[in-house]
Amino acid sequence: MTSLTEFALIERYFSHCGAERRDVELGVGDDAALLRPPVGEDLVAAIDTLVAGVHFPPDAAPGSIGHRALAVNLSDLAAMGARPAWALLALTLPKPDELWLEGFALGFGALARAHDVALVGGDTTKGPLCITVQLLGHVPHSSALRRSGARPGDALFLSGTVGDAAAGLLLEQGRLALEDMAAAKELRARFAFPIPRVALGERLRGHASACIDVSDGLLGDAAKLGAASGCGVQIEFEELPVSPALLRAVGAERARHLALTGGDDYELCFSVPPARVEELERALPRERWDYRRIGTLRDAADAVVTRGGTVMQFSHSGFDHFSS
Ligand code: ADP
Ligand code: MG
Repeated sequence: MTSLTEFALIERYFSHCGAERRDVELGVGDDAALLRPPVGEDLVAAIDTLVAGVHFPPDAAPGSIGHRALAVNLSDLAAMGARPAWALLALTLPKPDELWLEGFALGFGALARAHDVALVGGDTTKGPLCITVQLLGHVPHSSALRRSGARPGDALFLSGTVGDAAAGLLLEQGRLALEDMAAAKELRARFAFPIPRVALGERLRGHASACIDVSDGLLGDAAKLGAASGCGVQIEFEELPVSPALLRAVGAERARHLALTGGDDYELCFSVPPARVEELERALPRERWDYRRIGTLRDAADAVVTRGGTVMQFSHSGFDHFSS
């Protein structure tokens, strides 16, 4: 892009896209941003790339792409128990399409303002559609949640419902047909506009022994939490939380398979030592915070799904870009 067009584009769509924050000494416009993290807090950094055709359909609504590019990073910070604050946006576009940019900036900006995130800089280049967002935040010194703190016997919890986004993507791709329009709309929205569990993540500090966000499929992501903690996980099939919309769409059996292996839900999966479960439930009432127990950390290396007392077999345990 010529420098004038690029300058105008940045100025028009991105110089006032997110929240205004007092701790941004210098935002979009200089060679780098100047930020003032709170004293006594650890800086938390995450970055995620969305590639057209890989992470979203190339013709997806620009508002959804803008929303998701930030949401996936918000979810990573939520899993750390951190508070998001500043974002950087690297945008690669085939052409400076104003309608597309407007939609993208609206989707990104609305979610950024909802979480008090300032867009403080980025990069704009020409090429195949690709969006990278870096998100910075903070957490009180040494109190971040990690994947690695779980112990055998800890209870395993999950927020919200899972499998909806995977069904939403199947609908979007025409690989699933549904007569129930209301259910279809709900499932599509879960893929297009995921709601990261930022407030829950922050509140889990001091309660959860380990935490991960579910982006690649519950079974695979829970297994990652287990592996990082040096133990395994056991998930009870009948306890998997699935939405009424997903049940109506595909039935109980397929819903729970999607819940285990589908991706893009951005819920939080976390462990709590048995002695602290009561305290968790008192501090964070389930009805208000929407989570439930789905299993237990176990003294073994693998992730298993049980139904009644029997271990079930699964061929696919999550999305992996490099598996054939
Ligand atoms: P430089 O060449 O010094 O890297 P750029 O011309 O790339 O500067 O960017 C000018 C300013 O605009 C910088 O402050 C940069 O952070 C910001 N910027 C560029 N692209 C974006 C974008 N897509 N979103 C937000 N800020 C951007
Ligand atoms: Mg640059």
